[in-house]
Amino acid sequence: MSTALPGTLYVVGVPIGNLEDITLRALRVLRAVPVIACEDTRRTGKLLSLLDVPRPALVSLHDHNEAQRVEPLLARLEAGESVALVSDAGTPAISDPGFRLVRAATEAGLPVVPIPGPSAVITALCAAGLPTDQFRFVGFVPSKAEGRRKALEALSEARETLVFYESPHRVQAFLEAAREVLGGDRPAVVARELTKRFEEFRRGTLGSLAADSGVIRGEVVLLVGGAPEVAPTEDDLEAVVGRLLAAGLSPSRAAKEAAELTGARKKAAYALALALSEGEPPS
Ligand code: SAM
Repeated sequence: MSTALPGTLYVVGVPIGNLEDITLRALRVLRAVPVIACEDTRRTGKLLSLLDVPRPALVSLHDHNEAQRVEPLLARLEAGESVALVSDAGTPAISDPGFRLVRAATEAGLPVVPIPGPSAVITALCAAGLPTDQFRFVGFVPSKAEGRRKALEALSEARETLVFYESPHRVQAFLEAAREVLGGDRPAVVARELTKRFEEFRRGTLGSLAADSGVIRGEVVLLVGGAPEVAPTEDDLEAVVGRLLAAGLSPSRAAKEAAELTGARKKAAYALALALSEGEPPS
């Protein structure tokens, strides 16, 4: 028998294309709750029937009515009903409605339980082949050229892998703007139709993908490698020596490595290293 904790808001991830990606836990919760808050009651109704989950009360909660729907849903939670929040696809509140409801529930001291499932950002990132140790999920950038350019400019120094959502008919414009603002050499990946029959990863650079993106159909995640580390120059000698000393290197080792890294003369690097290690301001 399925059970759900009373008065609990469950944030339930659902597939982004492949029905088999529903988790056992998500199925159990969806079968147990008396209420599901969802973006589109028809789409969620269809999903439930494909998953063979009996249909509970469905309450629509989308970008245009979330503010009004929060209070009645909170009242149901406070009365002890459990509620599942789902979106059309993927994880609720990730470039989808739900954040306001989650915030209101946490502010009211009500339990909020995540039931993790697929999300396009992680699905794309884990197989794209770009660094995953640090990434920035940007989601959708503004759709108009000016706003898009500004958003990209603000990201131009970021070192981490950038992950964008974009609608397929804007992919070409996005790639061209990104090539201009971030540079054509950056590695980039167009991840399309993830988990579906025509799943595809197009890998290249912003330059090559912008020149050859062709017609893009279906859903798309765009990933762009972070800003390359700028090689230090002679001007950075003092900072580099300081960092190496702080990392525990002896003045002579720090000087040698700093000279190699920056192209400065060893003698100058050594004088700096000695001065810094003795706490004297460099001359
Ligand atoms: N909440 C969802 C999630 O957790 O990924 C995202 C919803 S957002 C409104 C929809 C965007 O997610 C699409 O425009 C696309 O950029 C991306 N997306 C969703 N499903 C996808 C898929 N199967 N393949 C590629 N991108 C997908």
